[in-house]
Amino acid sequence: MKNKIPGRPRFAYVSKSAWSVIEHFGFHFYPIDLDAIYKALPIVSHTYQYYMSMWGVTLDEYISSVCGIKDGFSIYDKGNNLYVVSYNTQDMTQARIRWTLAHELGHIILNHFGEFDATSLCGPGLTEEEYGVLDVEANTFASELLCSPAMVGLLPEWERNADAVSRFFFVSKQAAEKAIAKWDSYPGLHSAHAAFFKSQFPSYTSHESA
Ligand SMILES: [Zn+2]
Repeated sequence: MKNKIPGRPRFAYVSKSAWSVIEHFGFHFYPIDLDAIYKALPIVSHTYQYYMSMWGVTLDEYISSVCGIKDGFSIYDKGNNLYVVSYNTQDMTQARIRWTLAHELGHIILNHFGEFDATSLCGPGLTEEEYGVLDVEANTFASELLCSPAMVGLLPEWERNADAVSRFFFVSKQAAEKAIAKWDSYPGLHSAHAAFFKSQFPSYTSHESA
């Protein structure tokens, strides 16, 4: 039997999982190379547009066939032990697509498919609330992987604005603003995470000790 979905997002576990990925892939520079992670895992990824032309459907038809999910989703093909990630590119910036890909990676790496029965997109699968918890976990994973508030806090103060942060981490301005806001709201919490980023990304943080 599958485990029960946690009542609340497991922030500490999710952050640690994202940092383990950074460590495992030996990333010492931003932006994080999502391609390298995707290539190393049993994931097949295609755009919505790929499936639309294969099935001869419009974007609206495709989106409604996947329960109205506009950005992207993933499915676990248990028989082949393969994850399929599908993502929309129409009217999406590269930065937003990167977020979607990191979010889906979160569902996969956090083992949402293995530990919980999160394989069905819609229908009699998860309740909205359960789905919400897993989605918050996937977003937290994306945030810690691509643009951690702790790392934002380690940047020189003049770089801690939405323009510079979005360029540096290759995320959208909204994602950059959220990371800055998180750093501003919980500097104590994120300072506690700083040690990892200082040792993993020394070339950006050496000014700290100067
Ligand atoms: Zn999701």
